Amino acid sequence: MINPTDVRGRLTQARPLNDLTWLRVGGPADYLFQPADIEDLQGFLRDLPAEVSIFPMGVGSNLIVRDGGLRAVVIRLGRGFNGIAVDGNMVTAGAAALDAHVARKAADAGVDLTFLRTIPGSIGGAVRMNAGCYGSYTADVLRKATIVTRQGEVVDLTPEDLNFRYRQSDLPEGAVLVSAAFEGASGDPQDLHDRMKVQLQKRDETQPTKDRSAGSTFRNPAGFSSTGRADDVHDLKAWKVIDDAGMRGATLGGAQMSRKHSNFLINTGTATAADLEGLGEEVRKKVYETSGITLEWEIMRVGDPLKE
Ligand SMILES: Cc1cc2nc3c(=O)[nH]c(=O)nc-3n(C[C@H](O)[C@H](O)[C@H](O)COP(=O)(O)OP(=O)(O)OC[C@H]3O[C@@H](n4cnc5c(N)ncnc54)[C@H](O)[C@@H]3O)c2cc1C
Repeated sequence: MINPTDVRGRLTQARPLNDLTWLRVGGPADYLFQPADIEDLQGFLRDLPAEVSIFPMGVGSNLIVRDGGLRAVVIRLGRGFNGIAVDGNMVTAGAAALDAHVARKAADAGVDLTFLRTIPGSIGGAVRMNAGCYGSYTADVLRKATIVTRQGEVVDLTPEDLNFRYRQSDLPEGAVLVSAAFEGASGDPQDLHDRMKVQLQKRDETQPTKDRSAGSTFRNPAGFSSTGRADDVHDLKAWKVIDDAGMRGATLGGAQMSRKHSNFLINTGTATAADLEGLGEEVRKKVYETSGITLEWEIMRVGDPLKE
């Protein structure tokens, strides 16, 4: 179906995805494609039969890939897509660049993208998920996003095209984001680095940052944000209803609701995707029984369960 000699990057058939996700779970993708550069990606998508699904993947920090894997070509960007350039207050980063690297490089140049420092994803995932914390969001600073469409064309999108919402944005079906331009406020480099240091410490104090997780498991239930802003308060309220349901520390197989922060679902070492998703569903059930609230997943769950 797909000819590996037609590409310059790496195309691997039946590639397990567990080592590519933060939770370390996930069955095989039909194919994993790691393009060498934009032209390679364009040619690949242009030639790929229209009926084949693609799934762009960042560094898998917001994903549960189910144990049966993904019936798709997973596209994972690497070295050819991780450049970071600063021009005045504009920072342009490849989609594979890590949020933390972008924040640090921006701070070196006196540009404030500090909120990205503690988010463990890539720029592709940050734009798609409208990642944010400490009151700032990708939507606040994004000026332009460049994608390669499913047909292989390079297109620039505006923030309006992306229609940012809480932990969500719209990308055309099958599109792969390849770079994004952000505009940050000016700041003193040392102050910006100091602020990031404090934020990292705060994370380590309150969240299980050393464990295998995918960040906040559930969104704050609607109407429970005290400020009305889509920031950390959401997460706070989700952990509260989980605590009230007695699910802090609950386990299923190798999955556990973290004792340190009960809205973090962690892989203690031996969890399958079914354990993690099953425990999450158990939590939703218990929370509904105790408070009448239906929690919504924030972690994306993709792929097929293992067949019996
Ligand atoms: C410890 C921890 C703390 C976290 N804290 C926060 C936080 O404070 N705030 C927050 O917002 N999130 C947080 N997260 C969640 C996660 O880091 C973010 O959602 C992040 O933006 C996901 O980026 P990623 O590269 O890992 O994307 P992935 O998890 O790989 O993918 C997420 C989505 O983005 C899409 N995507 C990724 N790359 C591309 C691309 N190039 N083109 C098109 N689509 C793409 C995928 O298809 C998928 O739909 C946390 C996670 C962890 C593990």
